[in-house]
Amino acid sequence: MSKENLLLHAGDRTKAIHAGEFPDPATNASAPNLVMSTTFVASADTNFSVEGMEENAAWVYTRWGNPTIHQLEEKLAAIEQAETAVAFASGMGAISALLFHLLKAGDHAVISDVAYAALAEMTNELIPDLGVEISKVNTSDLDALRAAVRRNTKLVYVETPCNPLLRLTDIAAAAAIAHSVGAKLAVDSTFATPAATKPLQHGADFVVHSLTKYLGGHGDALGGAVLGYRADLAPLRKKTAVRLGGVLSPFNAWLILRGLATFPIRMKAHQENALKVAAYLEQHPKVKRVVYPGLPSHPQRELAKRQMENFSGIVTFQVENGREAARKLAQKLQIVHYAVSLGHHRSLIFYLDSEELLQTSFKLSTPEQVASWNDFAGKGIFRLSVGLEDADDLAADLEQALQD
Ligand SMILES: *Cc1c(COP(=O)(O)O)cnc(C)c1O
Repeated sequence: MSKENLLLHAGDRTKAIHAGEFPDPATNASAPNLVMSTTFVASADTNFSVEGMEENAAWVYTRWGNPTIHQLEEKLAAIEQAETAVAFASGMGAISALLFHLLKAGDHAVISDVAYAALAEMTNELIPDLGVEISKVNTSDLDALRAAVRRNTKLVYVETPCNPLLRLTDIAAAAAIAHSVGAKLAVDSTFATPAATKPLQHGADFVVHSLTKYLGGHGDALGGAVLGYRADLAPLRKKTAVRLGGVLSPFNAWLILRGLATFPIRMKAHQENALKVAAYLEQHPKVKRVVYPGLPSHPQRELAKRQMENFSGIVTFQVENGREAARKLAQKLQIVHYAVSLGHHRSLIFYLDSEELLQTSFKLSTPEQVASWNDFAGKGIFRLSVGLEDADDLAADLEQALQD
């Protein structure tokens, strides 16, 4: 049996280690090579335009494709059980590429009203300025989503669990609604990761990841990817990766490849730690509310159990006077870093003030949208990305920092 066939039926841990990789034919090196070369010695018949570029053609120029980036794309596709993947310089690079690929002037797109802040801001101005109409919809509310799609809707874009609320969207239901008008469904699965949910299996057409988070996992390399079907991604690569140019550095690809090898076992440990820390926070007298899809108290617990095989590692919680508490935590925490980002082996915490975010990123337009925000976030939340340290040490660090 060939390696490809064996890996097709292998478990997630085997795939994470072996998919996409092969010993270097020249040296027999067991670990993947880092190929930094921007150009490759070509044959005289090589085309100068990417127009005729075929998959599996010889390497020409690293913006078109590169062996180290290719190994990463193959491994990502195997882990997500997608036909193929295209890597980008960051999660936002991947998201921008997808929007530029699918949307043109006169089109309409539905975007989660609460999604990654840079996407929210981009769809407030930059994308509408190009003549694409955007509707921001709470995609957890399927009636609102159903009411928002139109004949010219080309894209429905959801994030589940969404950043920062940890509110979930039913992917299969959203896919059915998108497809009823001929639109594509894209899912930002950065928070869930393929350990929890494989959106393509629920009917999504595209999956987006910030590799900067759990997939890379170590806080040392920005990266992003779009995954999906070959028929969609081959033109997407030409149009948006090669021509718009936001491609990943081979060095970052190599770091992320290395991080991916331990991805399945890291996610088990993230979930185990997050459950313990969430339970600790839930009984803390100063903590008013904890939101975590792994807790029975999550408002969409049934959907969480149905759609997530792992509840991932992000927990939010609310206390009185959040801003004041944030100053105290930033000063007193010894193990947990007060910093943005998430999904690293190090625990990270950051305070998100509702009033500020509703004015800058999330300009929610209906009373229902504001009510849902308030239900999950109140006046503000701490977003805690529970890392891989010992859970007891994290609880002890939070305990001493929350003390008066
Ligand atoms: C971080 C993040 C992004 C953006 O990724 P970058 O790698 O920072 O560009 C997109 N979506 C979600 C859900 C994220 O958490």
